[in-house]
Amino acid sequence: MKLTQTRANKGEKLQKVKLSEALLSPSSAHGGLYAPSKFPLITDALWAELGELKYSKFALKIIKMFKFDIKKSVFKKAIKRYKNFDDGKNPVPLKQIKKRLFVNELYHGPTRAFKDMALQPFGEILSSLAQKSRQNYLIMCATSGDTGPATLKTFANAKNIKVVCLYPANGTSEVQRLQMVCMQGSNLKTIGIKGDFDDAQSTLKSLLADDDFKATLKKQNLNLSAANSVNFGRILFQIIYHAYAYARLLKQNVIKNDEYIDIVVPSGNFGNALGAYYAKKMGAKIDKIKIVSNANNILTEFFNTGIYDLRGKKLIQTISPAMDILISSNIERLLFDKFGAIRTKELMDDLKTNKFYKLSNDELEQIKKDFEADFASDKKCEKYIKKYAKKGYAIDPHTATCFKMAKSKNTTIITSTAHWVKFAPSMLKANKLSAIDEKDGLNKLANLYKEKVPHTINSLFNAKILHPDVVEKNQIKSSISEWIKR
Ligand SMILES: *Cc1c(COP(=O)(O)O)cnc(C)c1O
Repeated sequence: MKLTQTRANKGEKLQKVKLSEALLSPSSAHGGLYAPSKFPLITDALWAELGELKYSKFALKIIKMFKFDIKKSVFKKAIKRYKNFDDGKNPVPLKQIKKRLFVNELYHGPTRAFKDMALQPFGEILSSLAQKSRQNYLIMCATSGDTGPATLKTFANAKNIKVVCLYPANGTSEVQRLQMVCMQGSNLKTIGIKGDFDDAQSTLKSLLADDDFKATLKKQNLNLSAANSVNFGRILFQIIYHAYAYARLLKQNVIKNDEYIDIVVPSGNFGNALGAYYAKKMGAKIDKIKIVSNANNILTEFFNTGIYDLRGKKLIQTISPAMDILISSNIERLLFDKFGAIRTKELMDDLKTNKFYKLSNDELEQIKKDFEADFASDKKCEKYIKKYAKKGYAIDPHTATCFKMAKSKNTTIITSTAHWVKFAPSMLKANKLSAIDEKDGLNKLANLYKEKVPHTINSLFNAKILHPDVVEKNQIKSSISEWIKR
């Protein structure tokens, strides 16, 4: 199967590319992305069969159904990365917290964020493609905190790959910062920017389009690419865990064959939620995918009114920083799937020119068949964190948003995206605790939850800082150029 460009003019023949091509160059014509135009279908009989499988076998079966151009042996090696999770046999524990309420814990990977679910296997595949084509790549990423550690970790010492990670010097949690500045790997470089996430992101965008920078890289035999969630290679692995959770509920007889479930997803760039939508298209009986936001609730407005409106909007800093996003890139793939490439281009052009687009009433109805949306304030999230702490269950500030949408007649799965250790200050505040420093805070929280602080996090406080650089925005390019020449 091939992937199709998401934006087109009337009469234009749609370009289709192999997965391997879309992985290495994720942008398509007119500034669009690549997406599947049809999906393999999982029948009831096959769901029953799949329900018997462990996660790694399940994942391979799902991937095989797409008939992509990448060899099974490469996928197999990629999936092996889940062995680095807390429980290699079951990387994604599904916890029951009420009669009809489950939590899909996706944060048990090496960097304690759900980004590992996709980036771990993705890193393996990208390095393997680079080796096969005898090319070298510089992978860049800008992060608000979770993508950075996960990208560095997946590519540490990978062949034919170098990574540069840009983070806002005062914009991440302390644990996230330490994860990045202490990350080992001779092919890795982490640079702090004096500024916020927008500064990091805009620096990345300008470098990706900078011919002089690309020429410098070419001299060092490096192609430039990015590891953000617009890469379909990441989305593929985000379908699997939603489908797996559905198969588990069937297997455990929590739901019957003809019964529908709801999935709640804390959303930013909409990659995670898109994975749930694709799982539904493959035959998982999902009634509503519930999109939950924080105070940056542009998606709440979009799914309820059909209007995507950037006018006069400013980013608000919340206790769930990975969801502090205004431009949600993967909505484009939903538009493409529902309305086709021509309409998608019209809408995305509108957004670019007018900072705004509006779906027709018919189109909005189409979207509402699959989605509902709401948002939760920081205050509300702190209440949920405290409430569940009393029951002995830890939820991080991102996962906490989900509880606003957890009520349903259907069995519901909450998608949990980060481990609480990454957000100690917010967790302490919600639980009305205080601490002298980050480490003390983590210990107090561990006590509260009767859990242990994972060794990989504790050891950060004594680790050597390998990437101390914090520079002005306009010095980034020369910092990177120097580093790649060494
Ligand atoms: C990235 C991230 C999100 C948002 O996921 P999207 O796929 O971008 O919608 C939510 N929570 C956490 C903890 C994250 O790291």
